[in-house]
Amino acid sequence: MATALDSPLVTRNPATGVEVGRASPAAPESVAAVVAEARRAQAAWAGLPWHERRRPLDRWLRILARDADAWADLIRDEVGKPAAEAMAGDVIPSLDSLRWTYGRAWASLIDERIGPGWQRMLLMPAGRLRWRPLGVVGMIGTWNYPLFLNAGPIAQALAAGCGVVWKPSELAVACGERLQASLEEAGFPAGLVGMVQGGGDVGAALLETPIDKVVFTGGVATGRQVLRAAAARGIPAVAELSGFDPAIVLPDAPLEPTVRALLWGAFVGCGQTCVAVKRVLVVGDPKPWAAALADAARRLVVGDPSRPGVDVGPMIDAHARDRFHSLIRSAVEAGAEALAGGGPIEGPGSFYEPTVLLGRTAESERALEGAFGPVVLVRGFASVDEAVAAANSAEMALAASVWGADRSAARAVARRVTAGTVGVNEAVTPAASAAAPFGGFKASGHGRTHGAIGLREFVAPQVLFERRAGGFRPQLFPYGDGRLVARFLRFYRSLFHPRA
Ligand code: NAD
Repeated sequence: MATALDSPLVTRNPATGVEVGRASPAAPESVAAVVAEARRAQAAWAGLPWHERRRPLDRWLRILARDADAWADLIRDEVGKPAAEAMAGDVIPSLDSLRWTYGRAWASLIDERIGPGWQRMLLMPAGRLRWRPLGVVGMIGTWNYPLFLNAGPIAQALAAGCGVVWKPSELAVACGERLQASLEEAGFPAGLVGMVQGGGDVGAALLETPIDKVVFTGGVATGRQVLRAAAARGIPAVAELSGFDPAIVLPDAPLEPTVRALLWGAFVGCGQTCVAVKRVLVVGDPKPWAAALADAARRLVVGDPSRPGVDVGPMIDAHARDRFHSLIRSAVEAGAEALAGGGPIEGPGSFYEPTVLLGRTAESERALEGAFGPVVLVRGFASVDEAVAAANSAEMALAASVWGADRSAARAVARRVTAGTVGVNEAVTPAASAAAPFGGFKASGHGRTHGAIGLREFVAPQVLFERRAGGFRPQLFPYGDGRLVARFLRFYRSLFHPRA
């Protein structure tokens, strides 16, 4: 158990200021003991057959399903999104992800035979590839999808035979407590999953312990600090970092349904979604698109998400809103025109107007990179090539989308975009796929979560080669006269390798 510090971490409903969560932060020096406990439990856990490992996973899935409505309400209250959005974008994808892991992890980690192929002639034995759990994984989480972004990777690590020590975001401590309680209720072995509450100091302390890998979700700047700490310890890392997602709109995209989809893609989670659409890159005249988006954005109902009919809730807190607003101002100073919104909403709660910018210059687009809030910038381009170049010019490359009536033309454009996930007439939703690997390119990070590829982040391949004891031993490199071997190798090369 981690030793708690005195002053508690408190989270407040970002719409009302009412306290939602209260937790004791772990003392940084006590985090190593939690890791040691997880390691003790993990040694036995990794040796259990799959049918025993999957039993508590099944119970955990049932507990989360039982509590689905309570989860949606808690996410609404702690991070400020409408409960229906929390259900559709966080709770249900979490259940789907656990269900995938429960049903498919075993088949994804099954041993494979590696045949010797033509190397049989060199008396190469056959190998057996098996996936060994890495040990204890440290996870450092964020707040915007406080269930999905934590429960999915925790389930996969456990299914793979790892132990986990995780730190929820200090901005979602009630969700952290509830998730840890659900793991305890599910009956995983004591200590196998440890949670430490706290801020960056506790995250940094976790990286100083002998964890075997870190899975980090958060911003680029913190992510790079985490990657440096992981490199100093020589451990691998999954870094799920920010996005600045482009949506390329081709000339044949139908305006009305595309604008509806882009609107949701931009303002889901009050724009505080790593895969939210931030840039609409129109091939042709951007003005009708910017005007339609601005018109629709002005009609969104912003307010306390516990009230019926609210579309967009508050930002997570006043700091985040200030940071966001300064990026909006920079974009405007660099030439963007605010067609809708552009400022904080006065009064209690950290609300911000859904903002649509018409960006006339590359500088205005660049100034917005890193904005994590309710904004979308629209720019026009004379050709597909220019739009693709703009899409790929950002440092971040998490997800992207291409919109157009001719799907094969849109698909051809999609293949040219650098991003971990690319949608054709689709944005945001694919991030909830239980089977598809999720993650970014470039500054958006590396490594993947979800599906078989995400699962393999928690294991390392080990190959066992075996031969019968005694019997004929290949003597290709004898210490004595090597003429026979040299002749054989010439023959082998003539069969299998190109002649120069
Ligand atoms: P953040 O980087 O501020 O914090 C993330 C986590 O890191 C928190 O738990 C924090 O306590 C911890 N932390 C802070 N300093 C640390 C340190 N020195 N060492 C170790 N841990 C430390 O990000 P945030 O505000 O929680 O999240 C918002 C960002 O996350 C956005 O930029 C968003 O795009 C990104 N995000 C990415 C994904 C993804 O899957 N790619 C998903 C959601 C959010």
